[in-house]
Amino acid sequence: MTISSKPVLISEDKKRVDGRKPDEMRPVRIAVGVLKNANGSALVEYGDTKVLAAVYGPREALPKYMTSPTRATLRVRYHMTSFSTSERKSPAPSRREIELSKVIREALEAIVFSSLFPRTGIDVFIEVLQADGGTRTAGLTAASLALADAGIPLKDLAIGVAVGKVNGVLVLDINELEDEYGEADMPVGIAPNLGEIVLFQLNGVLTREEVKIGLDMAFKAAESIYKTAKEALYNKYIKLVEEVKSQ
Ligand code: ADP
Repeated sequence: MTISSKPVLISEDKKRVDGRKPDEMRPVRIAVGVLKNANGSALVEYGDTKVLAAVYGPREALPKYMTSPTRATLRVRYHMTSFSTSERKSPAPSRREIELSKVIREALEAIVFSSLFPRTGIDVFIEVLQADGGTRTAGLTAASLALADAGIPLKDLAIGVAVGKVNGVLVLDINELEDEYGEADMPVGIAPNLGEIVLFQLNGVLTREEVKIGLDMAFKAAESIYKTAKEALYNKYIKLVEEVKSQ
């Protein structure tokens, strides 16, 4: 008889590998306007996962036939830097990165008032600086904040957070180890004020009830991340106003 080698990811007192409770987020750190040359930028950290987003535009987009006469065209590139993973990642775009660029673009299209900028392009670059699970979710949060920082009118922010299932327990904001050895990973993008889900994926198996509970966990976490995000935007602009006043 073989003995299962499934790792223990939840201790007897319901603590996770990094000491968190099941519904506990990793420390969230957010800074906006971190790059001088981009129109908007944001650095978002969920624990050890660190993602930078930069926005250029709305600006003239080429080739012209790719633009829309009625709205701005969003172009999104999600990319993992070679030094973001424990083993050097090839800098060439992988299938995974191409797919993630698409789903993040679709999530952002739900929050941008793109009809205000016909015939233009908005470029969003998402660079994963350090990966420890949840790079698409932290990337989505960073991208929406970079759009806000660029002054692009938004219906809401899009906040990303993943819910997973490890050792039969639903857990918030899974890290790489939990993602690798857990039973399910459900990344969600939430526009908290619109009350909308703008990204929803599920790898693994969850019951209908677990999906419901998981979504409630994600909404609650998104509201809390939203507060931190708003503070980061406020801090930057309050500083700017103070600088202008002191001149
Ligand atoms: P997400 O980062 O959105 O959770 P995945 O579920 O695909 O996306 O990946 C989970 C984690 O696995 C990543 O955050 C990263 O830590 C790790 N990972 C993903 N792709 C690679 C890769 N090509 N090389 C090494 N580690 C990777």
